[in-house]
Amino acid sequence: MKSLPISSVPPSGMPDTFGRVATDLRVSVTDRCNLRCTYCMPAEGLPWMSKPEMLTDEEMLRIISVFIGLGVRQVRLTGGEPLLRRSLVDLVAGIAALKPRPRIAMTTNGVGLDRLAAPLARAGLDRVNVSLDTIDQQEFFKLTRRDRLADVEVGLKAAASVGLTPVKVNAVAMRGINDHSAADVLQWCLDRDYRLRFIEQMPLDAQHEWQRDQMVTSDEIREQLSTRFALTPLPDETRGSAPAQLFLVNGGPSTVGIIASVSAPFCAACDRVRLTSDGQVRNCLFAKGEVDLRGPLREGATTAELAGLIQGEMWHKARGHGIDQPGFIQPDRPMSSIGG
Ligand code: SAM
Ligand code: SF4
Repeated sequence: MKSLPISSVPPSGMPDTFGRVATDLRVSVTDRCNLRCTYCMPAEGLPWMSKPEMLTDEEMLRIISVFIGLGVRQVRLTGGEPLLRRSLVDLVAGIAALKPRPRIAMTTNGVGLDRLAAPLARAGLDRVNVSLDTIDQQEFFKLTRRDRLADVEVGLKAAASVGLTPVKVNAVAMRGINDHSAADVLQWCLDRDYRLRFIEQMPLDAQHEWQRDQMVTSDEIREQLSTRFALTPLPDETRGSAPAQLFLVNGGPSTVGIIASVSAPFCAACDRVRLTSDGQVRNCLFAKGEVDLRGPLREGATTAELAGLIQGEMWHKARGHGIDQPGFIQPDRPMSSIGG
């Protein structure tokens, strides 16, 4: 097992050498998906993990409980598409029973949420972020290669009606596909009291086709929105570790967020750590390495041993993702397998 030199042993929790402390755990519960967003994966899908490779619910809960012991206070379930994990409701109930109980959130494409929102809320899910890049059926089909816009709409409605609020909507703008309709999505979200956040496209697609000069920047999104809305930036002090810069829309109280992950990274305030569905810990979306917990867990590792492995990985978290630096290398694992 990887051990740290005595002089650099982290005191407790999950600090890194730049003074950041992770408290927000993202758990990818499956790498499978029922959509094929062009910025995420190819039309034919990917070679999915086999069942024995994936953590069971019991294994996932054991690892999450170790993270909670290390100071995690929020668990976000993601994927792949988390709603495709058959045991998701039981998994949420299991997380909600951990002490101290973390806040539980989920990032989903919303397909199937109409059926699952109520059982998930009863099991302990607190909030959802639904990914929706456009409200135009043709554009939706172009972007996701599936005709499922109506399913996402009813999923969002169900989430709001069972109190998974505030319902947040995440949108990625793609040049020539939905970049001109950003203001329509904002108006649609305002009408329904969904909180919209745009995210810059990142080099995490399985096809490795991302190009910096093709990416729609946060400034361009702001310009687009400003053609129809007056945007007033909220002061940075109110932002904390939240990645989105928030703007009041037409004087408020509604807001829209823009996450400039590439052009203005928020790495200095990052408090995230990630667990993949095959039991690897990643200290960053763009980490070059990861530490395996599944092997040690299955070989009977103690809680202290698992915690030590996690702390060792977090201690070495890089200062930033370095996308704009020469020599940047996109991670081998795509977003759909890391968990966004
Ligand atoms: N399937 C779920 C969904 O789409 O919400 C959860 C997993 S998905 C990987 C999580 C988030 O990552 C989504 O909001 C998606 O839009 C975003 N995403 C995927 N690929 C991305 C990329 N290359 N750049 C920026 N965001 C991306
Ligand atoms: Fe699936 Fe989410 Fe990737 Fe779209 S972004 S293909 S919904 S995992």
